Amino acid sequence: MPVIDLFIDGVRQKSSQNETRNIIHPANGKVVEKAQEASTVDVEYAIKAARKAFDQGSWPKTTNAHRSLVLNKVAEILQRDKTLFAQAESQDTGKRIIESEYDMDDVIKVFKYFAELITKQTDRKVNVDRENIESIIQYEPVGVIGLITPWNYPLLQASWKIAPALAAGCTFVIKPSELTPSTTSLLMDTLTEAGVPNGVHNLVLGSGAVVGSPLSSHPDIDMVSFTGGLMTGKKIMATASETVKKVALELGGKNPNIVFADADMDAAIDNALTAVFLHSGQVCSAGARLLVEKSIRKDFVAEVARRADLIRLGAPEDSFAETGALISAAHRDKVEKYVANALAEGAELKAGGKRPTESHLQEGFYYRPTVLDNCHTKMQCVQDESFGPVLTVETFESEAEVIALANDTIYGLAGAVWTKDIEKAQRVAKQLRHGTIWINDFHPYVPQAEWGGFKQSGFGRELGPMGLAEYQEAKHVWQNLKPAASNWFDGKE
Ligand code: NAD
Repeated sequence: MPVIDLFIDGVRQKSSQNETRNIIHPANGKVVEKAQEASTVDVEYAIKAARKAFDQGSWPKTTNAHRSLVLNKVAEILQRDKTLFAQAESQDTGKRIIESEYDMDDVIKVFKYFAELITKQTDRKVNVDRENIESIIQYEPVGVIGLITPWNYPLLQASWKIAPALAAGCTFVIKPSELTPSTTSLLMDTLTEAGVPNGVHNLVLGSGAVVGSPLSSHPDIDMVSFTGGLMTGKKIMATASETVKKVALELGGKNPNIVFADADMDAAIDNALTAVFLHSGQVCSAGARLLVEKSIRKDFVAEVARRADLIRLGAPEDSFAETGALISAAHRDKVEKYVANALAEGAELKAGGKRPTESHLQEGFYYRPTVLDNCHTKMQCVQDESFGPVLTVETFESEAEVIALANDTIYGLAGAVWTKDIEKAQRVAKQLRHGTIWINDFHPYVPQAEWGGFKQSGFGRELGPMGLAEYQEAKHVWQNLKPAASNWFDGKE
C-alpha cells in the first residue's frame, strides 16, 4: 500500500515515531493509502528548515521576476500532471473526478495569477513634502509561514496560501488535513521541479493537536494562515498571540441565499440547489440558508425539494453521479445529528433526511440532500454550520426584514441576492455583512478578487492584491540626501 512521506528540507522522510495513519476513500470506506504521522520532533525539524531557508537561503532575496518565472513553471507542471492530481484529490475527498479536474484548473489559475501580480509590484515612493528626502515603501516577505488547511478543497485551499507566500518570498511549513494529504504532498515535488529551493517548502502530516498546533505556537514561525472551522480558528488565534504572530483566518460560514418574488424562477431554483448541494454541502460558502419571499415560498420550496430528491449520488468515477459522499463516517454522524436536532426544533422535512438506500452506496459515507422548511433565525440549524447537504428555509416579507435576517449570524463569509430589480439587489448587497455577495448567481470566484470573511468567518483576505499583501511587510526606508543638524537639543550647558 502506498505511504505518503513527510517532506522536509527537500527530502522525503519517515516519521521519527514510526507511525502511519490510514487514509480512507469516502466512496467505499476502504483504506487506500497510508500517511506518515509526524511527531513534534519532525515538526520542529521542518520549522528549523524553513527558518534557515528564510534567514540564510536565496529565495527571499530573489527578484520578483524570478519568483514569477518559478510560479508560472509550477502552473505548467500542474497542467501536465492534472490527471494525476485530480485522481489523488478524488481518492481522498470522494468528490467526482470532473470536480477535482475543475479544482485543478482553478489551482493552475491561482499560480498564474500570483506569478503575474508579483511582476507588477514595485516599491512605492512617498511624497513627504520636504526637500532632499527619499522616502520609499518596500514590500518584504513576512518570513516563515505556518499553513494549515482543511479537507474539502485540499489543494485549492493550499494554493490560495502557497502561491502568494512564494510570490512574496516567504518560506513555509504546511500541514494539510489528516484526512486528505495526497495532493499537497504531490505539490511538494512540483515545487521542487519548478525550481523552489530546498527548505522553502516543507510538509508535515498528522493531527491538528500534535502537528498543527506548533505552527501557531513556535517562535520561529512569523505568521500562521489557517483555513478551517471556527473553534480551531479561535484556538490558533489564542496560541498565536503568545508570540504575537501575524494571523490570517478563513473560517466557516452560514451563507444566506435571498430570493425575492420577482427573481428569474428557473435560475433561482437551479442555483438554490447548486448553492447548497455542490460537493454535498461541504463548501464553506454553501448557500445553506434559503431566505425566500413569502408570496412564492410554497411553490419554490416544493420545486427545490422535488429536485433535491432527484440528485444522483455516486463515486468519483461514476459518470451518472451528480455529487459524492461526505468526507468520513464521523462527519456523516455529525450531519445526521444536526438534522435530528433541527426536526426536534420544529423544522419540517421536505426532502432527504436519511442515508441513500441503493445497494452500491452502502459502503460509502453518503447522505441524501436534505431540505428543512419552516425554519427561523433562532433555531440552531439556522445558526450552526452543518457542512453537509442540508438546506434550511426561512421566509420574509420585506427588504428590511430580509437584510436583518441575513445578517443575524455570527458568520459573514458569503451570500446571494436574486431579483430582477437591480437597484434593489445593489441596495441589499450593500447592507449585507458578508465578504462575498453574488447578485443573480452563486459560487463563482476568481483569483483576481479577494476572498474572506466578515465577523467570525475570520479575517485577512486570500486571493486578489490583498491576498499577496497578507504575506508581505511594508518597510518604510527614509533617506536624507543632505544630512544636517536639527539642533533640537542645542547642547548648551
Ligand atoms: P478543522 O478546523 O477541523 O480542521 C482544519 C485544519 O486544522 C486541519 O488540518 C486540522 O488538522 C487542523 N487543526 C485541528 N486542530 C488544530 C489545532 N489545535 N491547531 C492547529 N491545527 C489544527 O476544519 P475542517 O473540518 O478540516 O474543515 C471544515 C471547516 O473549514 C468548515 O468550518 C469550513 O467552513 C471551513 N472552511 C472555510 C473556508 C474559507 O474559505 N473560509 C474554506 C474551506 C473550509
